[in-house]
Amino acid sequence: MQSASRTFFVCVLFLITAVDCSRFGRCQVSQEMTPLLLTVHDAPVPFKGSDGLVHLVYEVWLANISSGEADIQDIDVIGDGAVVQRLDATAVSHRLQPAGLRESSAVLTRGTQSILFLNVILPNGTPIPKQLLHRVKAHYSAAPPGRQEIVESGGATTPDLQPVVRISAPLRGDRYVSADSCCDSTRHMRAAMPINGRVYVAQRYAVDWEQLDVDNRIYAGPREKLESYTIFGKPVYAVADGVVAVAVTGLPEQTPGKYPTNISIEEADGNAIIEDLGGHHFACYAHMQSSSIHLHRGDKVKAGQVIGLVGNSGNSVAPHLHFHVMSSELSLASNGLPYQIDAFKVTGATPGTEAFDEAEEKGTPLAVKAFSPPHVVEDSLPLDQLIISLTPW
Ligand SMILES: [Zn+2]
Repeated sequence: MQSASRTFFVCVLFLITAVDCSRFGRCQVSQEMTPLLLTVHDAPVPFKGSDGLVHLVYEVWLANISSGEADIQDIDVIGDGAVVQRLDATAVSHRLQPAGLRESSAVLTRGTQSILFLNVILPNGTPIPKQLLHRVKAHYSAAPPGRQEIVESGGATTPDLQPVVRISAPLRGDRYVSADSCCDSTRHMRAAMPINGRVYVAQRYAVDWEQLDVDNRIYAGPREKLESYTIFGKPVYAVADGVVAVAVTGLPEQTPGKYPTNISIEEADGNAIIEDLGGHHFACYAHMQSSSIHLHRGDKVKAGQVIGLVGNSGNSVAPHLHFHVMSSELSLASNGLPYQIDAFKVTGATPGTEAFDEAEEKGTPLAVKAFSPPHVVEDSLPLDQLIISLTPW
């Protein structure tokens, strides 16, 4: 390409991208240091939570390409030019985790990557943004004095408007707890796992369903006894018509109260069914009792069919049903997808994950806050630490 036409091409390109060019062919292109590289690998799929609001749950990767620390001061999530969420330094310090670690920090040490776990809640009536961008203000210890504060934008992504699958509940009855559900708990949502050459968050919307007895206890009797747990042995129901993609059986029940050691990733879900719901949606039902599963790969199942009984197999510390929806039949090498349960009744809430963990450890009653009257919720994803009656109630 000749020099003149190359100059023209470059100028046109920058005009299109709104970078300043002079009128007579010589570009005045600004260059700015962007020591943090921002990337979104999996665009958020907007969904309605049981709070009635639309949530955008996703991760932004931050790579610190500098020779010193990057101390994040604040981050704005910008939707179509307007700030839709602001995270101050404290909020960032709770939501930013160095890749591969579980402890969060607002500081990226030199040459490292961290993952920002976001839960952007749109105010009622706010349209879903067509584009999301992230403006990050940080202090860089390696930059020259007076130039250590840098603001940059990046991580552009477009929300994925694929249909959210509508399902029925995987359990039936009262006083279920939606433990470690979306969107601010630090377990499933932050289970960013390096599998098959990339990082997946397959369990982004997983729930560990537990059940309370009439005295609001998770178990009554010896902690290590499976039958002490209210939920143990409850039927698990197919959430929609589908086909069995994976059926794992033959794994023993674990003794409640302690996590098993040396579990392979193939055995982590315990006795489990992965059901192909169609439309690239797969439901994972994990930790069931081996002898309760009589399905095999390729079997058709109908919505509401009993597919197994709640157990404590695999990587599990107490009997519960782990349930999530994802993009493939691989329980970990998949993108976690939101779903909406057709109807359920929220009768209360626990004081939070810490209180739940304590009740699970000690067998003491949870200080449940009852909702009067209960809220009947339709076509929504149950959020974290709610007390829920699942149809028919
Ligand atoms: Zn789980």
